[in-house]
Order: sequence, then structure tokens, then C-alpha cells
Amino acid sequence: MLLNEECSPNCKWSIHHGQEVDDCSLRIHAATDIKPGTYLSACFSSVWKYGGSFINRYEDVRFNVTCSCRRCKDPTEFGSFFSGIKCKQCDISQSDGYLLPIDPSNILSDWDCQNKACKARSKGQVIHEEVNKLHSKIKLYQNDYWQMVGFVFENNIKVLHPNHFLLFKACWSCLELFWGSLKGLPFFSQRYEFFNSCTHVAKKALDLLDIILPGASIQRGN
Ligand SMILES: [Zn+2]
Ligand SMILES: [Zn+2]
Repeated sequence: MLLNEECSPNCKWSIHHGQEVDDCSLRIHAATDIKPGTYLSACFSSVWKYGGSFINRYEDVRFNVTCSCRRCKDPTEFGSFFSGIKCKQCDISQSDGYLLPIDPSNILSDWDCQNKACKARSKGQVIHEEVNKLHSKIKLYQNDYWQMVGFVFENNIKVLHPNHFLLFKACWSCLELFWGSLKGLPFFSQRYEFFNSCTHVAKKALDLLDIILPGASIQRGN
């Protein structure tokens, strides 16, 4: 069976190991309702790591993947604005506009404001540098839950679209830090605001998954 590569797939996969060395199998599961005659698809990398052409450019050049699936060919990524950057020109005029690449498959592509009343255009290189700076912050905060929560909710909404993949990535890091902090600690030792903030982060992560990766996934725990 062959599966199409899609960064918003209708299947998920897992590898199972048995007792014997050569007892290994690849299992394919439906992640969504699949109508008869529909091509089966899977994402062979991580939804935010390599999934999404924009993300490919930033995260890991080892694989140098240029994906041409439906999501990666759509600059809006199904209307999610997963790569959207706030337009500074729109910000000055207090209107709502976000920049997206004209050609997501081309790293050198210019970025245009999606607000039709605005004609702003930016060089891809300028956007990349801006995003890389923010990405460095996430790496810096990777052991600090509250700094990471601040990144998600306070510091970056002026620069990034609320659905931006860096915010998604920071949400995910918050949740990992949250679970890590629970290990070996009595439940009641955690403060209320800690749990409360984590609930908000988890909700935001699920809202983003509904758009870019509907259906069952590791990220949803199913
Ligand atoms: Zn793709
Ligand atoms: Zn604009």
C-alpha cells in the first residue's frame, strides 16, 4: 500500500515491535472519516517540524524537504495563517493585515499583505530573520514554564498571527514542561494559576490542531 505525503493527512502511522528482532510492523490507522475512493495520506514527519513548507525552511535543513501537498501549496494553510506575520503598515493604520509568502515553495519568495486595501510587500529574508529571532527565544525559554506562557499570550501577538506555528510550538513546550513538573510532586503542591494557565495553553493548541490537523493524532493523545 502506498500513502500520499500530506501535512494534513487522513491517516496516522505507528511502528510496533514484538519480542523477536525481526518482529516489526508498520500500522496505518484512519485519522478521520475517509470516503470510499479517497487517497490515503500520512505525514512522515512532525506536524510543525517538517509539515508545512514554511516550517521546513526554519526547523531542520538536514532533510531539506520541499513538500508540495495541499497544505504546503496554500500560503494560508487552510485559512489558518499558520505562518502569518503581522503587517507593520496595517498596524500603523490600525487595520488588520498579515503577511504570507506569495510562493510558499520558494524560500526567496516575497511576502504580501493579505489585506486587500494594503499593498505592503516584504522580502522573505527580512521575515526569516524576524521569525528566527523569536524562535531563538523559545529555545532560550525551554526550561522556564512561565517565560514560555508569556511567549504564547503576551509578547508576540503584535508580531505573529495568533495561529502562528511558533506560538503552537511554544504551547507544546508549555505542555511538556507542565507534565514534567508533575512527575514526583504531590498534586496539591501545584498552584491554581499554574493549572489554569495550562488549561488555556492546551485549549489554544487544540484550536490550532482543529484547523491544520483535524482527526486523531499523537498531539491529541489518540
Ligand atoms: Zn506538505
Ligand atoms: Zn498590510
